Amino acid sequence: MTDFTMKTGADGVAIITWDTPGKSMNVMSMEAWPQLDALIDEALSDDAVKGIVITSGKDGSFAGGMDLNVIAKMKESAGDNPAQGLMDGLMGAHAILRKIERGGMDDKNKGGKPIACALPGTALGIGFEIPLACHRIFAADNPKAKIGLPEIMVGIFPGMGGTTRLTRLLGAMAASPFLLEGKLSDPKKAKQAGLIHEVVPADELIDKAREWVLSEPSIVKPWDEKGYKMPGGEPYHPAGFMTFVGASAMVNGKTQGAFPAAKALLSAVYEGALVPFDTALRIEARWFTNVLMNPSSSAMIRSLFINKEALEKGANRPDVPDQRVKKVGVMGAGMMGAGIALVSAMAGMEVVLIDQKQEAADRGKSYTAQYMDKGIKRGKATEEKKADTLNRITATTDYSALKGADLIVEAVFEDVGVKAEVTKEVLKHVGKDCIFATNTSTLPITELAKASDNPEQFIGIHFFSPVEKMMLVEIIKGQKTGPRAVAKALDYVRQIRKTPIVVNDARFFYCNRCIIPYINEGLRMVGEGVAPALIDNAARQLGFPVGPLQLVDETSIDLGAKIARATKQAMGDDYPDEAVDEIIFWMEGEGRLGRKSNAGFFDYDEKGKRLGYWEGLAEKYPHAEEQPDLIEVQHRLMFAQVLEAVRALEEGVLEDIREGDVGAILAWGFAPWSGGPFSWLDIIGAPYAAERCDELTKAFGARFSTPDLLREMAEKGQDFYDRFDQQKSAA
Ligand code: NAD
Repeated sequence: MTDFTMKTGADGVAIITWDTPGKSMNVMSMEAWPQLDALIDEALSDDAVKGIVITSGKDGSFAGGMDLNVIAKMKESAGDNPAQGLMDGLMGAHAILRKIERGGMDDKNKGGKPIACALPGTALGIGFEIPLACHRIFAADNPKAKIGLPEIMVGIFPGMGGTTRLTRLLGAMAASPFLLEGKLSDPKKAKQAGLIHEVVPADELIDKAREWVLSEPSIVKPWDEKGYKMPGGEPYHPAGFMTFVGASAMVNGKTQGAFPAAKALLSAVYEGALVPFDTALRIEARWFTNVLMNPSSSAMIRSLFINKEALEKGANRPDVPDQRVKKVGVMGAGMMGAGIALVSAMAGMEVVLIDQKQEAADRGKSYTAQYMDKGIKRGKATEEKKADTLNRITATTDYSALKGADLIVEAVFEDVGVKAEVTKEVLKHVGKDCIFATNTSTLPITELAKASDNPEQFIGIHFFSPVEKMMLVEIIKGQKTGPRAVAKALDYVRQIRKTPIVVNDARFFYCNRCIIPYINEGLRMVGEGVAPALIDNAARQLGFPVGPLQLVDETSIDLGAKIARATKQAMGDDYPDEAVDEIIFWMEGEGRLGRKSNAGFFDYDEKGKRLGYWEGLAEKYPHAEEQPDLIEVQHRLMFAQVLEAVRALEEGVLEDIREGDVGAILAWGFAPWSGGPFSWLDIIGAPYAAERCDELTKAFGARFSTPDLLREMAEKGQDFYDRFDQQKSAA
């Protein structure tokens, strides 16, 4: 079975159809490239062929991108010189696409055959780079289709001509949202933006492309014409120069220099714009090779693409029949309950939203109405969809409405007594198979499960706030949680299109367990006289979306104080965070509760806009004369989190490092460029990590002591992923 086939009609139009065997969407593999190449050669050299249409055999899509194994295979292709293998592989792909682009013309741009691309739908990555090399792009009028170059989102950039062609097509400024932000468009928007040429009814797609091919069109690309000028000007043109000054500042501002792909992309665009097209492709290939040789790119691809998808598809789902949810009861219509009701109703489930008072339940439901209204304004939803979604939600105080629910998600106050009362009452009204989940963020699941006669049907489904935006859901197994409850939670998370991780029950589960030490380390440094700006900026330059002090302001200082008091009560003499509490309780006492009170570590204006750090903080905790080195601050913030992740693995809270990595990036924005805590440790290597822990322990205390697992790995020269892969294949 081949990926590409060709049929030439009596009219002389050769139709090349891409249809990757066994896949619902086409992906470019190492084997498929030469097939495409051979068919293009055959069509160009056959006198009976007047032109070519490249299309897809898949319904509703052209191609989803590159099979990421291609990169690994290219690296292996040149023996012990992976960079050379990549460079050769990329230049080989450029040669095929350039052949399509030249269509068989001579160097005077004479002769040649028109090649159109006909997209039935989604065209991403290489699935859009091939069309960009063709002479005209037709797309079926399919509003669900997504067209664009999302590579930057997984730590690489469009490196098969997409960067060079889009820049020359639109100019650097107009191309930047598509290249630097990975912006995707539906066909109509893609046409407006100049990414494609025509949007046609789906059933006329091939005919329109065929007609165009037969119309004897001019096929010379603007950049192959003499005197071509890049739209917006080249870097040395005053207008172009300003674009690059702005873009460079923007990239550095947004990425804080922590994402190598964004910088490399900009370099490829800038340097490529100074030279002829073919040289620009070579420059693009060099920068792409550079990015692919950086361990950050493979770590990002592994976590954000391969492992994220594997978890979403149920990599750790117990072997239990389909548990998809039809009717969900959401207990508590506060901030979390309202969001949980929204995402469940949007996924087509029947939702019963219960609160103590009818007004509270109604308020919770109105959150969905507001959300849908925003969607309508942005053209992403319709009145009909809003009505359908709202119709699925029953807001009530009446527990009897829960009859027939197959899942309950409880999101009432964070209080063991209240939760137990609600659990008992709910269980009187639902069938014996109903799974009960709690959204608690701090209370042990095993403890809460005691309120149920059926602890194997009791589980934690921990959402992050705001529910509709945050992609991760942490599923927590209590000591007695059974496999059907896990499968139910996983099937539910899949229905609401989020990414799950499954962990075992322990204080703060996995995510909060790692986030809290990150915040606490920042607070400790304030107490030591480290400048707050140094603390937050050190984190941002590591690629964290917000620094620890800003994060406490966002999540609120009284919440931090509440968690600290509860933890201290639970841990007694073992409690390690007195130094942190001093600051947090003092802030609480000063009424500086964070953004919600317009006063925290930062000052805010009346509209809630963050101004600068509050001066009162420096009065209480004066800045030390000698400030620490940036790397030291960064290592303290980083190790505070990753060591908790390692301990969670050692203790069996985490069972799968893939979940530890994906969860960290999606739940709290852990430096995405690193691929997650375990990937970061693999990048720096266990021996260096253990050595740094020893130094940090000496300087700052036992919280940095090297976990036994890390020490053992350092001695054996192991890394987490090798070890994990070996354990998996041994199992
Ligand atoms: P919230 O105070 O906004 O909402 C709680 C709701 O529960 C209120 O509307 C309240 O009236 C209702 N309620 C209280 N007792 C009830 C009862 N007996 N019957 C029915 N309804 C009752 O709180 P929230 O922020 O939505 O948090 C809810 C839960 O989610 C807590 O367990 C919290 O720890 C957890 N959680 C919160 C966040 C967050 O960021 N806020 C994140 C993850 C998990």
